[in-house]
Formats: sequence, C-alpha cells, structure tokens
Amino acid sequence: MKHLVKSSEDIEILKECGKRLASVRNALAASIKPGVSTQDIEDLANKLIAEKGDTASFKNYTPQGANRPFPAAVCVSVNDEIVHGIPNEDPKILAEGDIVGIDLGVTHKGLITDSAVTVPVGKISEEIQELLAVTKKALAVGIREVRAGNKTGDIGAAIEEFVAGRFGIVEELGGHGVGWHVHEEPTIPNFGTRGTGTELLSGMVIAIEPMLNLGSKDIILADDGYTFKTKDGKQSAHFEHTVLVTEGDPEILTQSS
Ligand code: MG
Ligand code: MG
Repeated sequence: MKHLVKSSEDIEILKECGKRLASVRNALAASIKPGVSTQDIEDLANKLIAEKGDTASFKNYTPQGANRPFPAAVCVSVNDEIVHGIPNEDPKILAEGDIVGIDLGVTHKGLITDSAVTVPVGKISEEIQELLAVTKKALAVGIREVRAGNKTGDIGAAIEEFVAGRFGIVEELGGHGVGWHVHEEPTIPNFGTRGTGTELLSGMVIAIEPMLNLGSKDIILADDGYTFKTKDGKQSAHFEHTVLVTEGDPEILTQSS
C-alpha cells in the first residue's frame, strides 16, 4: 500500500485544503436554523468555496455505481437520510427538531479533503442529542486508532466496541482514502476485527466517517439514486474528518481551528 502514501508537498497542500474546508463547514453549520432550506445551504457552500478560489469536490463527481454525476457542491441529509442527500433537487425547509448532515469535499490546488457534521435544527429531543453525541465520539474513538502500523480493522473494531449496540452501525458505507481523488483505497468500515484489513503507513490520508442509526442498521437507496435513508424511517447521524497518518498521533486535517 506504499502507493497510497502522499508526498510532503501533497501533505502541505492537504493541510491548507483541510483548514479551508473546516472554515466553510463551520459557516454552513452556523447558518442552520428553522426556516433555512437545503438550497440555502447549497448556495452558501458554493459562495464560500468560490470566494477562496477552490472548488467543490463532489459537484459533478460520479461515484462507482452511480448513473449520473452528483448535482451539488454539498451533501445535505435530513433526519432519516443517512448520507448523499441532494440539497438542490426538491429542496427541503428545515424545521425545529430536525437534524441535518452536511458533508463536503473541497479541492484546493488539485487535492481533496472531506468532512461532515450533523447539526441540530433548534431544539432536538434527548434521544437525538445522544445519537449525535455518540456518533461524534465514535469518530474521535476511530481517529485514536490512526497510527502507522495499525490496520483499518483496528479503527472499525474500536468504533464498533464504543457504540456497543446502542445504535445501528451502517455497514454498506464507510471511510476511505482521500487526497488525489474523492474516494481512494483503502475502505474503512465502521465495524470489524482488530489486526485485519490494510496496514496504515505514515503519509497516508484517510477519511473516517461513522454513520449511526437511531433504530436498525438497515438502509435503502432513494429513487434519486444518491440519497441513502434508514429503512425504518428513524434518524441517522454522520460525522467525518480527513486524517493524516503519522508514526505518532494522527493529525486531523479538517479540525476546527
Ligand atoms: Mg464526506
Ligand atoms: Mg467521505
């Protein structure tokens, strides 16, 4: 997996890319309140990314298995939508008590970082607060396993152990290498067995992204060909960071400053 290691020049660009992404992501999250539409989030993302001279990595990107390019700058996934919600086709108006996942990729000088947060709209119920808190912590727990010599299975196992059956872990989707492309090897499941999978090497850049469902782990794909939803219609949460593997502690490239 030596071919997945980024050069020191790439890593410097990815660090700047991650900072730029974090500032856009935080501004989008801060804009969320009842009455805001998913189209408003898309419009703000386009404006903020363009202002910095960067581009939205997901716009016009066609992932494996999709039959058309993704039509928006940002994935906006509301309530029972897990990931890959489309903000500008049939836009939704956010209401008090909703939760909204914002997932974006930013391309800076040809290189890409990827990050997501799930944000409450106004006041949310205690059980949904817990869903958000546990998913956010699951990301931190996964990141703690990122170190040269560890394996991708160590990340998944740590997340699965931490969740401990409290919520449904989505199994069909997960983390991935990132940097030169939106999705690279290795894939990083949010469950698994320690000591299995791809060995992490210093200089690899990976996105870790647990998705937890309030109810069952089962998912369905909506008719738009992109939006993954929970099969039982209950809420789902998603947090993601792009992380640099080192010999020591991992470096979170999309950290809030
Ligand atoms: Mg993402
Ligand atoms: Mg990702």
